[in-house]
Amino acid sequence: MSYVYDTENIFAKILRGEIPNNTVLETDHTLAFEDIRPHAPVHILVIPKGAYVTYDHFAAEASDEEILDFTRAVAKICKTAGITADEAAGCRFISNAGEHGMQEVPHMHVHILGGRPLGRLVDPA
Ligand code: AMP
Repeated sequence: MSYVYDTENIFAKILRGEIPNNTVLETDHTLAFEDIRPHAPVHILVIPKGAYVTYDHFAAEASDEEILDFTRAVAKICKTAGITADEAAGCRFISNAGEHGMQEVPHMHVHILGGRPLGRLVDPA
């Protein structure tokens, strides 16, 4: 795989402490913070601390420890936010990648959206 990571992307700056964020959860390998332009009452971004561009990049090259840490962080965030589908009304996980995915920030992230009905997954073409 030949992903090239841009160290000046905005989430890299957040991870280096150069830009503030509203942290929801921080673990050894993962940071979660509120999206600056929320699309729903709950809109949290979860990012690995490692230099991965997209979800598939992360899934292919991150260590088992990083992947486990990230995945468990997602579970904790949903539980704490009260948006799990078993105990509450559910939510949506989105990870945009590249041009067709309309990814703005080239550091792997998962959007967690909840707190209202979210409509269909994708706009009809
Ligand atoms: P994407 O299109 O999937 O790359 O989404 C990038 C997201 O990052 C958007 O929802 C932005 O609102 C969000 N975002 C950009 N800058 C910041 C920031 N400084 N703090 C929090 N969220 C941000």
